Amino acid sequence: MYKVRHWVVRHSRVFESLYRCFEPLLVKLHPLWKRLGYARVEAPMRAVEKGVKGLLFDCQMCGQCVLSSTGMACPMNCPKTLRNGPCGGVRSDGHCEVKPEMKCVWVEAWAGSQNMRHGERIHVVQQPVDYRLRGSSSWLSVVREQAQRNNGDEQ
Ligand code: SF4
Repeated sequence: MYKVRHWVVRHSRVFESLYRCFEPLLVKLHPLWKRLGYARVEAPMRAVEKGVKGLLFDCQMCGQCVLSSTGMACPMNCPKTLRNGPCGGVRSDGHCEVKPEMKCVWVEAWAGSQNMRHGERIHVVQQPVDYRLRGSSSWLSVVREQAQRNNGDEQ
């Protein structure tokens, strides 16, 4: 999927726009998720998310997606899983010191962010990865957070 994820980064603006339509739709469906039960929806949603994002971004299902802040390049593909920029080992050709055949995820992230409408989000400092969320649907957790923020709604 390496080629696909390069292609996605080159078209990061398109994917940014798609996600900006997709997220409010998911949030709007909160009453449905609530009615069905978030616990029950988790497994099918996770399967869809894993399939779609695995294909497009080589998603590792960290459960806390930051693609919109990283130029649509998934930082979990960095061998050191760095979430706040590159290490000091980026090669002069922009490739990874651990996997020389791979372009540094953060070189990609910077390039992708430059195409995006809200590319400045790359400057936001990301929290450390919470490994308890690994394997869970980040889509659903975004919906839960938004619903709570919007209406103080419980799941
Ligand atoms: S940041 Fe996490 S959820 Fe988003 S694509 Fe990467 S591994 Fe998947």
